[in-house]
Amino acid sequence: MLVFRQLFDPTSSTYTYLLGDSTTGEAVLVDPVFEQVRRDAALISELGLKLLWSLETHVHADHVTGAWLLKKRLGSEIALAAASGASGADRLLGDGDRVSFGKRSLEVRATPGHTNGCVTYVLDDESMAFTGDCVLIRGSGRTDFQQGNARELYRSVRSRIFSLPESCLLYPAHDYRGLTVTSVCEEKKYNPRLGGEIGEGDYAGYMKNLDLPHPKKIDEAVPANLRCGQPGNEGPGNSAAALEDPSWAPLRFTFSGVWEVEPHWLEENLSVVRVVDVREPNEFSGPLGHIRGATLVPLGDLAAKAKELPKDKPIVAVCRAGSRSAHATAILQKAGFTEVANLPGGMLRWRGEGRSVEGGAS
Ligand code: FE
Repeated sequence: MLVFRQLFDPTSSTYTYLLGDSTTGEAVLVDPVFEQVRRDAALISELGLKLLWSLETHVHADHVTGAWLLKKRLGSEIALAAASGASGADRLLGDGDRVSFGKRSLEVRATPGHTNGCVTYVLDDESMAFTGDCVLIRGSGRTDFQQGNARELYRSVRSRIFSLPESCLLYPAHDYRGLTVTSVCEEKKYNPRLGGEIGEGDYAGYMKNLDLPHPKKIDEAVPANLRCGQPGNEGPGNSAAALEDPSWAPLRFTFSGVWEVEPHWLEENLSVVRVVDVREPNEFSGPLGHIRGATLVPLGDLAAKAKELPKDKPIVAVCRAGSRSAHATAILQKAGFTEVANLPGGMLRWRGEGRSVEGGAS
C-alpha cells in the first residue's frame, strides 16, 4: 500500500510530500524544508518508514531545503535535476529517470521554465504528480528570476503535465490560500494562466506584467539550496546549530510536537532533573503512588504556579497516562522553561515496568 502525507511549512507556504511503500517501509520526501526536518523525521519514525531519498523539484528561492540535514540525521540520500547546477547531491536526475522506493517509483519529467532544473515527479501509475513551482493550483510559478522563461514553462506544462491522464492529481510545492490539491482535468479547464485556449504568447504576456516583489529569502536560500541545504555563511536561516536537539537527556521528539524521555533514563537520573507530577492530589497519594522526590502541581494550577518552580534543573512532567503531562510540557515552555520533557505512558507505564515509587499499593 502507498503511504502518502502532505506536510506544510507555514512560514514559506511550502508543501512537503512523504511517499512510502508500506510493505518495505522505504520512503521518499519531496521538497523537505530545513526548519521542518525534526517534525518530518518524527513522522517518518512513527510511521515505521526508512527515508531513502530527499527529492527536490528545483532549487528553491523562498526556503532552504532540508535535504542535507535529513541526510545527516537519517542517512537519506539527495537527488535533484542535473540541470539545477547544484552540488552535494548523491544522484543527479535527468528526464525519464526513475526513483524507486520499495515496489513503487516516481518518474522524473523535466519541466523547466520556472528554473532550468525544474522537474515534475510522476507516480508510477500516473495517479499523482508533484509539480513543484511549475503548475500551481489555478496558477503557475514565477518566471522573473533565477532562469525563469515563461514560454518554456508554458511548453513544459502543456507537453509534460497536461498530457498526463485527466484524473491525475497534481500536488504543487506551494499554495498561499491553503488549497491542497488539483487535477490535470481541472487545471486544463480552469487554470487562468495556462488552461483553455490560452497560447504561449498569452502566457508570456501575462507573466511579463505580474510585477511581483523580490522574494525575501532568495539571497540566502538559493546559495544554500545550490549546496542541497548544507549550511554556509549567508545568515541565520539554516544554521545547523539552530536545529540541534537538546543534550540534557536522550530525548525523542514526537510528531505531535512533544519531547519525551524514556522511563529507564529517568529512573537512573532522578537526581539531575525535577519531576513535576501534574495529577490531582488524590491521584498523587493514590494506589499508583508517585516518583520519589516528585513535586505535585496539578495541571490546572501549573500555568499560575510555574514561576514558583526553580529553573536550576530540567523538568520531566508526569501524570497517570502521559497525556496531561504532555500538555504540561507546553505550559512550562510557554512559561520560559527550555529543558522540559514528558514521561510517555505516565505512572501506568512506570508501574508496569516495575519501577520504584513512593506510596501507592503494591
Ligand atoms: Fe520555486
